[in-house]
Amino acid sequence: MAAENLIVVFDFDKTIIDCDSDNWVVDELGATDLFNQLLPTMPWNSLMDMMMKELHSQGTTIEDIVDVLKRTPMHPQIVPAIQSAHSFGCDLKIVSDANLFFIETILEHLGIKHCFSEIHTNPSFVDEEGRLRILPHHDFHTSSHGCPLCPPNMCKGMVMEKMQTSIGEEGKKKMIYIGDGSGDFCPSLKLKEEDYLMPRKEFPLWELIRKNPRAIKGEIREWKDGEELQNILVQIIDKIISRDQQQNSTTNDCKLKSINNPLVVAVAGHDQFRPSSRLRISS
Ligand SMILES: [Mg+2]
Ligand SMILES: [Zn+2]
Repeated sequence: MAAENLIVVFDFDKTIIDCDSDNWVVDELGATDLFNQLLPTMPWNSLMDMMMKELHSQGTTIEDIVDVLKRTPMHPQIVPAIQSAHSFGCDLKIVSDANLFFIETILEHLGIKHCFSEIHTNPSFVDEEGRLRILPHHDFHTSSHGCPLCPPNMCKGMVMEKMQTSIGEEGKKKMIYIGDGSGDFCPSLKLKEEDYLMPRKEFPLWELIRKNPRAIKGEIREWKDGEELQNILVQIIDKIISRDQQQNSTTNDCKLKSINNPLVVAVAGHDQFRPSSRLRISS
């Protein structure tokens, strides 16, 4: 397996960035009190849309929001971590309960948006009045997604299942899931034995796993900050690539050892005419 068969799924808040983007924007724009006052009355995602309306009516512009997003706290090793995984050839995706406008603005500012093949999150757009609208990823007004573990607007586990279905169509692939929050528990439950889970140490996902250690099928590698995230991610990618190179060379050794068996030689010879992804690994 080459690195292109490795899918790395990142959560965004407190994983790629070092805070919650919704809280960051609300706090920096001075709307914390209203946010806290309204939070008990409606779902988080609906409240964010409401907060954008409120801020817009008070004169906050899209440029003000972009300026705040550009100052989002980041660990200095996160961008290099993403760039190295991308340069190894891994397929990087984001699954986040933030929103597309916040995520894309930050990734563009950091110059790493091109590193990601997919972003699954709450849709958002700037309307004709210049107000940022934030919508649910799953339209819970029409129907519930039915997952008791997740907030009404998004079940990250359902997103993972869809990814796994499309992976199934493309062939054998491994996944690494990196996250911190309780919303990352549901997608973590979908990982398979050959996959990896990277929960942020002492954050809600990590606590949930500690309470349910048998719930996770994949190998668990915890991390505490951007530096550890980078080290562990590169270690896993390295391990997978070199293990597969070893398997590839063992396969070749077997072919050589069995050279006296005409049947095996015929099969091995036939194999050489087939374009094989394994051949590309050793080059
Ligand atoms: Mg998070
Ligand atoms: Zn769920």
